[in-house]
Amino acid sequence: MKKITKILVANRGEIALRIMRSAKEMGIKTVAVFSEADRQALHVQYADEAICIGAPPSNQSYLKGDLIIETALKLGADAIHPGYGFLSENAEFAKKVKEAGLIFIGPSPESIVVMGNKLAAKEAAQKYNIPLVPGTAGAITDIEEAKQKASEIGYPVLIKASAGGGGKGMRIVEDNDEFESQMQRAVSEAQSSFGDGAVFVEKYIGSPKHIEIQVVGDTFGNVVYLFERECSVQRRHQKVIEEAPSAVVSPDMRKAMGECAVMVAKSCNYFGAGTVEFIVDEKLDFYFLEMNTRLQVEHPVTEQITGIDLVKEQIKVAQGEKLSFTQEDLKIEGHAIEVRVYAEDPKNNFLPDIGTLTTYQRPQGIGIRVDDGFAEGMTIPIYYDPMIAKLIAFGKDREEAIARMRRAIAEYKIIGVETTLPFCDFVLQHEVFLSGNFDTKFVEKYFSPEKLNPTEIETERMIVATLIGKLLSENTSQITQPVDTSVQPKKSGWKNRSR
Ligand code: ADP
Repeated sequence: MKKITKILVANRGEIALRIMRSAKEMGIKTVAVFSEADRQALHVQYADEAICIGAPPSNQSYLKGDLIIETALKLGADAIHPGYGFLSENAEFAKKVKEAGLIFIGPSPESIVVMGNKLAAKEAAQKYNIPLVPGTAGAITDIEEAKQKASEIGYPVLIKASAGGGGKGMRIVEDNDEFESQMQRAVSEAQSSFGDGAVFVEKYIGSPKHIEIQVVGDTFGNVVYLFERECSVQRRHQKVIEEAPSAVVSPDMRKAMGECAVMVAKSCNYFGAGTVEFIVDEKLDFYFLEMNTRLQVEHPVTEQITGIDLVKEQIKVAQGEKLSFTQEDLKIEGHAIEVRVYAEDPKNNFLPDIGTLTTYQRPQGIGIRVDDGFAEGMTIPIYYDPMIAKLIAFGKDREEAIARMRRAIAEYKIIGVETTLPFCDFVLQHEVFLSGNFDTKFVEKYFSPEKLNPTEIETERMIVATLIGKLLSENTSQITQPVDTSVQPKKSGWKNRSR
């Protein structure tokens, strides 16, 4: 067994920093690689060594696998951690790392190949009788054949790119008439985004919940599940609020989903940390969606409720250690919620709002964790994902976690860019979210920009109400008319703008 002594982290931002922190606790040295846009970045400052690997666009820096491997060898690193995104699910890269005599902190290239393709993943899972969303067994190119299958499956259907990810190459089709045009769009989007135009058709699950299971395996064939994460609050098919455990998953359902996830992992001889995603329908029946062969953005909520540091486990497995816990050792304690703080404008269709963080003050206090990669005065580069931070709240139960999160959101001061924070606060107080019974349509069904941005009339009413309130407290005896206090000035839109 070879102990890892120095890790090159082939990533940036919060996840690079998060990985380096666990490495440091294990006494392992770290190397940061960075693009010219990230010269001042926190992961660069934090690492023991840092080296610039190219120009800002990812394909000239963070995606240059050969250069990254060369850098690792040159600086005497013995392992590479890919984080998420960039090269993390690139089987060719994982293979080259291994061939260079380095350790890839992640699963085998073979597991990545199988699970990186949605159709191959479904095929592997099918052998273990894992429930799958009804759909075509293989890729489909012929439009007439695809139409026929769609009618058999029953509308609405979803056309998906086999090589898809990040919600790209996915099209909902409501009826036969729009099938052809939607299929053409899905194929061309798949081709341009992934260089692979293969698509398949799946039943569109109405009122779908996205619930995923964290798994960890070692190289001795042991695999355990670390319970579920509820990730149904999404915009553009992408998660924005996650929590663990889910408010709707019973202990029996948890066990059934967990055991399915372990089988999916075993179907591709998985080791390291991975996530098995399921879609859950109104009757709480669950179907396997895909497996992500890396650390997920939302992994901290699992860490909070299990007390397991997933990055440390990844490192230990990569250096050939056996898992130090069994399924029976694992239990859920408390409740954790994560909100993703994106530099995006929720009042403008969640479009990225890049700029400089003129004020940036993190929330603090009991039960709060902030995983970020920025500090005051820094500019969010336009080249990468606009996530500023992940704000995680932990409490003894869901109610306490929600209250802590709302308190932390109120403390978080971000000026310079619009963020998803006001939107997250809106969700956290919505009765449907509080009930726990929400699905991936939450944003479409309940959110509209006016919910954050009071109209001019409302703003004026708020100002008037504030003035009247002031007058009242100064001289109550003068008031003879009843006052309309239906609009509370406390949570005003103009105040939110600065957060
Ligand atoms: P990607 O890899 O692009 O993220 P996924 O297969 O993980 O794609 O799906 C992303 C999201 O799309 C899910 O979380 C869910 O909201 C929605 N989705 C996927 N498949 C279905 C389906 N069959 N029915 C309804 N919604 C779906």
